[in-house]
Amino acid sequence: MKEIDIRPADLFNEFLKLSVDDINTFFADKSLFKHVRCPGCDSNVSHHGLTKYDFTYLQCLVCGSLYCSPRPNIGQLEEFYQNAKSVEFWATHFYQETADARKKLMFRPRAMLAADLFSENVWIDQDVELLDVGSGYGMFLDEVKRIGKFNSIVGIEPNEQFAQICRERGFHIINKYAEDITADDVSANIATCFEVLEHVYDPCTFLRKVQKALCVGGKLLLTTLTANGFDIQVLWQHSKSLTPPHHLNILSVEGMRHLFERSGYRILEIETPGKLDVDIVLNAYKENNFISESRFVNLLIAQNNEKTNNAFQRFLQQNNLSSHIQVVAERL
Ligand SMILES: [Zn+2]
Repeated sequence: MKEIDIRPADLFNEFLKLSVDDINTFFADKSLFKHVRCPGCDSNVSHHGLTKYDFTYLQCLVCGSLYCSPRPNIGQLEEFYQNAKSVEFWATHFYQETADARKKLMFRPRAMLAADLFSENVWIDQDVELLDVGSGYGMFLDEVKRIGKFNSIVGIEPNEQFAQICRERGFHIINKYAEDITADDVSANIATCFEVLEHVYDPCTFLRKVQKALCVGGKLLLTTLTANGFDIQVLWQHSKSLTPPHHLNILSVEGMRHLFERSGYRILEIETPGKLDVDIVLNAYKENNFISESRFVNLLIAQNNEKTNNAFQRFLQQNNLSSHIQVVAERL
């Protein structure tokens, strides 16, 4: 998989441009912003990490997580996710134009992983319900339905436009924020949550709500960004993954451990299976002429050796140093 497959530069740059416009529309009044503690370990000991589009990211001095603070309040974020142009562009252009690649390279493998969790479960002969939190355009729902192992598939999607798209394809969608769901809405055996945690106002509250929607012993498969990742560490303020107001929480691996413990889960697996760090860094250097900021990256670019790059990416995966993190956790 390459960066161009799932986020082509022209589409992604248009999305970033719309995000900047949205900041002026939705977040002009920064007096409403809230100061928060580290979303990973809950410490308030931090230093300035970086500033992007006038949003400040702090870095936790205990666990190394990066987080936006002060950040838009919950009402501001809900208004943004219902009406922002960048969100609509993501739904109507970005996702559609990368749909085939995303299905094949991202959502099919994730559906297989969810099916593996099903195979390991102890609910033999029971109806097994899968809950997908943040279903978006519904690509994961399509793939998991295709595998056909789950008796029931439910999606939670707060955006009305996305929820309607999924319903038109026959899926049961709860049109709410995960923070608003109750045990009456759903009681799932397996929950999945892909690329949502980085967006939410309060990750601990969010995960506790998902926990309540799982039966005891139920499992959660979650992916997000991590601050330990090579591309984020190298590119820092130049990283396209650090895009306020979309991405507010970029936790370290240690921060993720703290967060899951605080939220009522036992972590079964934590790994960084990302495939794109090296490609993203090389592309960013080519696009923006960052030459001389890192001699090591300059050396990688000068060598331009695919075998070396692939081996280096595997090293990052194997040592929890890729920016794409995956957690499997059990509800306590
Ligand atoms: Zn922390």
